[in-house]
Amino acid sequence: MKYQLLDMRDNARLAVGLVERIGEETSRLKHTPLATDGAAREQNRPIADHEEALKAVAAELAHDGLGLDSPELAAIGHRVVHGGKQFTEPTVIDDAVLKEVERLIPVAPLHNPANLTGIRTAMSLRPDLPQVAVFDTAFHTTMPESAARYAIDVQTADQHRIRRYGFHGTSHAYVSRKTAELLGKRPEDVNVIVLHLGNGASASAVRGGVCVDTSMGLTPLEGLVMGTRSGDIDPAVIFHLMRVGEMSADEVDVLLNKRSGLIGLCGDNDMREIRRRIDEGDEEARLAFEIYVHRLKKYIGAYYAVLGRVDAVAFTAGVGENAAPVREAAVAGLEELGLAVDGELNSVRSDEARIVSPEYARVAVAVVPTDEELEIARQTYALVANRAGERND
Ligand code: AMP
Repeated sequence: MKYQLLDMRDNARLAVGLVERIGEETSRLKHTPLATDGAAREQNRPIADHEEALKAVAAELAHDGLGLDSPELAAIGHRVVHGGKQFTEPTVIDDAVLKEVERLIPVAPLHNPANLTGIRTAMSLRPDLPQVAVFDTAFHTTMPESAARYAIDVQTADQHRIRRYGFHGTSHAYVSRKTAELLGKRPEDVNVIVLHLGNGASASAVRGGVCVDTSMGLTPLEGLVMGTRSGDIDPAVIFHLMRVGEMSADEVDVLLNKRSGLIGLCGDNDMREIRRRIDEGDEEARLAFEIYVHRLKKYIGAYYAVLGRVDAVAFTAGVGENAAPVREAAVAGLEELGLAVDGELNSVRSDEARIVSPEYARVAVAVVPTDEELEIARQTYALVANRAGERND
């Protein structure tokens, strides 16, 4: 569980933190009160669930005099992973919204229940405060049916709400907008391919600020090779494993979500470790890297074709922001498409959004650190400020 307390007058971070390994013996809460002394505090103790985690965070904030009871608190924004087809915008949470998020649990069994626990806990701590859901799927609801539908029987698809929803939407929205800013243009005027490469990874094609395709689908399993997920695979592999490999549906689910991708290919899912092994001549790690990059390149080509004209390719998240060799390899050989990186610019390490392509390149290659928390806060604040404005009218 990640959290930030932000002052929306200047986007300043007052406190940041995270709770890791919730539900395990080795849980850890790390809280950094940036507004006060800035020294990080850690709790290393079992934290049973997301309710206990959020209450522990509330106590840490209160310790700094920035508790959830503060009258200055305008709203709490929650990342909700699956908003289905219906939630296209940030939404003030009420009973009907909670019910709908609950109804979507079958398509997001790992995420939506934890999101609901967080929301209900926050509501119990501040029942009077607007709580806003910012959906990971919302940015992708603009995808045309041609990109959002799978080519399967329509009735079956509709009955089970099977379609391509996409995820990481808050990040794709933020990064595509920020990339336009970096180019000195309005989002409406640029076409961007966003590559969100973290432990989970997804690509999106954004035309004039609007998402027209993305690589994740019904669930976050489709698309790119990820840390532990296979990404695209022939669906017949699944029947084959069940029939011939005698695996259950649950076992195949675990295989594709937890034991595939980079970790399945070479035993490591951390790109730093993979690069270190490649430098030592490890062939297994090299092949894993090549498979990862090959898929990435295919998506760049595919989204280039979807967009027709591309102004920028933007890399973001843990791998995209930090792994220069991934960026270099992903665009290698694509000079004819106007894509190239400048070796020197690409190797610079920085927290700033920047362009790493050479001056002459037709398409800008950008590195844009993502900031999902700021984007959630921005959308949340815009919504509640708007509502307050309407009430005053
Ligand atoms: P995220 O999910 O965005 O937090 O990304 C996490 C992943 O980013 C890790 O699993 C690593 O593979 C990768 N990563 C983080 N830092 C670096 C780095 N300095 N160099 C290469 N990869 C990195």
